[in-house]
Amino acid sequence: DDDLEKINSRKRFKSDDDKRVGSEIFDKQTLETLYKLANHKYLDILNGAISTGKEANVLKGVLNNTTYLAVKIYRIATSDFKKMHFYIDGDPRFNVKSSSKRQLTTSWVNKEFRNLKRLKEAGVSCPAPITALNNVLILEFIGDSYGNPAQTFKNHKPDDLDQFIHDLLMETRKFIHDGKLIHGDLSSFNILNFNDYPVIIDVSQSVVLDHPIAKELFIRDIENLSLEFKKMNVEISTDMLKEKLDF
Ligand code: ADP
Repeated sequence: DDDLEKINSRKRFKSDDDKRVGSEIFDKQTLETLYKLANHKYLDILNGAISTGKEANVLKGVLNNTTYLAVKIYRIATSDFKKMHFYIDGDPRFNVKSSSKRQLTTSWVNKEFRNLKRLKEAGVSCPAPITALNNVLILEFIGDSYGNPAQTFKNHKPDDLDQFIHDLLMETRKFIHDGKLIHGDLSSFNILNFNDYPVIIDVSQSVVLDHPIAKELFIRDIENLSLEFKKMNVEISTDMLKEKLDF
């Protein structure tokens, strides 16, 4: 593949695609982090942008010319630290009282990593976390063997919508009862449609069940889902969702 440019000893992260990402994500520390990950054989090359969000960019990585990876890079400069504090304070797993923005971002990335690990162990359909270092998180790539990422549920409706929603609610139930987490930003943007089966992503803000805001986030999540289902002509009230999800 001509696009693929091996990171050689000079360690370059460049392709026609990732120029579009904008150089602002590759500040010095991010570059150093990527070099370190390359040195430790977590990734060979970055091959273009999958998504450019407000706080993070998701890029496609390649390892050994064969394995695709999702590389999520948080931009420290534009991160919403108030939001991070809101979700992270009160989580017994983290102590971030007196931390710098950089440290807070690292905690945030570790939180997403640990949440994914916990969910994976609970058998939830989500990307497997591979490693986290500073502001970079490497995840299992959800997509086909040609490197096309799965589309979101928002952008790509499944053939059998009722079945998909049924599967989604089953996965969300596992998320809560086996993963013991509340997503906190559950929407059709954060659910991938991978071969007509849901994969739940973006769990950085997800909180443990005994977190003081867990109940509030759960209500917000089901209100969101109910509204989105309604737009798809599927009527499931929040009460019904509460019952189905049993929380
Ligand atoms: P953000 O917090 O910036 O929205 P997300 O984790 O929601 O970051 O990811 C943004 C987008 O990147 C998703 O909508 C999806 O298109 C893509 N993406 C994220 N994780 C993966 C993955 N593991 N495999 C393939 N695509 C992914």
